[in-house]
Amino acid sequence: MPLDPLPPLRDVIAQHGLSARKSLGQNFLLDLNLTAKIARSAGDLTQCDVLEIGPGPGGLTRGLLSEGARHVLAIEKDHRCLPALAEIAEAWPGRLTVIEGDALDVDPLAHLTPPIRIAANLPYNVGTELLVRWLTPPDWPPFWQSLTLMFQREVAERIVAAPGSKVYGRLALLAQWRCDARIVMSLPPQAFTPPPKVSSAVVQLTALPAPRFPADAKTLERVVAMAFNQRRKMLRAALKGLAPDIEEKLVAAGIAPTDRAETVDLERFCALARLIAK
Ligand code: SAM
Repeated sequence: MPLDPLPPLRDVIAQHGLSARKSLGQNFLLDLNLTAKIARSAGDLTQCDVLEIGPGPGGLTRGLLSEGARHVLAIEKDHRCLPALAEIAEAWPGRLTVIEGDALDVDPLAHLTPPIRIAANLPYNVGTELLVRWLTPPDWPPFWQSLTLMFQREVAERIVAAPGSKVYGRLALLAQWRCDARIVMSLPPQAFTPPPKVSSAVVQLTALPAPRFPADAKTLERVVAMAFNQRRKMLRAALKGLAPDIEEKLVAAGIAPTDRAETVDLERFCALARLIAK
């Protein structure tokens, strides 16, 4: 059974001449069963507005709509995609709004009604920047309830990494401080047209009502950034610019001054941030 009355994505791409552009991170998903599956991993969308970044020819957009999203707001930088997206809007009256623009510049909030979820097959060149913005809003809880995001597998692994892992760092700590984060799907390069060089994965991040451990957000971000900037260094050296008595503060937070950042868990980073903010 087709999920909607629209033509297959291969035909849409041919009809509108949407040859993929590398500079825009364009690797399209053409299998509507797969995009519906990604939409389902975002949870029950029937009472939610969904913000989608980079709808392209609309594969995930169609998945979100056929899975019942109350309303989708899609921000797309490539104007060539707009006619294809207009056809989707016509097939789902009143449920899709498309904004042509750069997701880094557009403020979507004026167009969204809570509760809000974010779902996207992100362009690789702005994916991490957008994620960090969503994870570091001025107030918590943020404007969104959950993020369902496709990344290169290596970035997805950095988001869910645990202490001791080679890829544990700033992204894991930022994400896991105030969210539950897990990989919900893995996709080989062949799932995309054109296939990228690397595998991809979908990460589901659900906002916690409050941070897992208390800490001032800005201080924690600064401590973590400095600690991992020189991740091979002992923390007493990497963090020496933070406080004159950094060794005592590290010990008070339960961290050996000779430890390296990649062995320190979230709870102890938060304890250190509290001591530094004092
Ligand atoms: N969602 C489609 C899919 O799953 O097949 C396309 C995903 S493709 C990986 C990324 C999309 O993001 C492209 O359509 C690209 O034009 C768009 N894009 C790239 N940079 C963007 C930006 N800064 N703001 C908004 N969209 C952007």
